[in-house]
Amino acid sequence: MPDLRPKQIADFIAPYRVAPNRRVRLPRDFPTSAPKFDKTQAKELLVAGVELLAEYQERLAAQDSQGVLVVLQAMDAAGKDGTIRHVMSGVNPQGVEVHSFKVPSSEDLDHDYLWRYQKRLPGRGSIGIFNRSYYEEVLVVRVHQQLLANQKLPAHLRRADIWKRRFREINDWEHYLTDQGFKIVKVFLHLSNEEQRRRFLARIDEPEKNWKFSAADARERSYWNDYQKAFSEVLSNTSTPWAPWYVVPADDKPYARVVAAAALAHALIEIDPHYPEVSREARAGL
Ligand code: AMP
Ligand code: MG
Repeated sequence: MPDLRPKQIADFIAPYRVAPNRRVRLPRDFPTSAPKFDKTQAKELLVAGVELLAEYQERLAAQDSQGVLVVLQAMDAAGKDGTIRHVMSGVNPQGVEVHSFKVPSSEDLDHDYLWRYQKRLPGRGSIGIFNRSYYEEVLVVRVHQQLLANQKLPAHLRRADIWKRRFREINDWEHYLTDQGFKIVKVFLHLSNEEQRRRFLARIDEPEKNWKFSAADARERSYWNDYQKAFSEVLSNTSTPWAPWYVVPADDKPYARVVAAAALAHALIEIDPHYPEVSREARAGL
């Protein structure tokens, strides 16, 4: 039987959590490949972990006072979709919402940059998953600064310190949400350049994977180093005591899924949701 005691889960994910104020330089500061592990054991662990998540999710929904937001960020082909599919596979769909964020609409661009994310936050008792998130506002928008121009900011607010300001705004917003009873779990799937190349080639070679690949993805890959720098800045500035980042080695999919599931399980264990107590009178009524 895999060991899923709270302490074991906490110890397992500890090396992947970014300490607040730590200066992170990617790719070198965190591994992209898994330590030696047994694939069968990883699968068993995930199955047991998914059951544990399902049970906690039920209690979270019954308690109906706190919520969880999972933020998933990564380079292309790092396995965001597969992680969501596997980690949430055993959970009641009524208690989970997944939102994928793509290029913003003109209505989005007519508002402040957090507006569209605010609208998709999970409610109390729910787990919300952001497949990409407001962190794109300091990632893709930073790497491609013409996207910032599209945001129609007044000129005097488009200063060089805009990224520092956004980090502060995001930290403050996450702090506010935490104070409102929402726990935020941030997962960065850390893929190596070489493994992305392999996965892209598979998407070209295997017809049933073609739909996942576009020329735009190949173009984005040429900005690899800029993205690693932008992610390093994000991890260095926005891993806080209330909303820490986990840098998950993503070159081995089964391992990455176990770590992501463990980070979510850890958050739920910290919340420790309980079924509401039914009063003696109410029970007598039943
Ligand atoms: P995918 O996740 O493969 O469906 O791609 C979504 C695309 O939307 C990616 O190319 C992202 O870079 C892009 N995207 C997501 N969020 C933003 C944003 N805030 N601003 C501009 N582009 C974005
Ligand atoms: Mg894509």
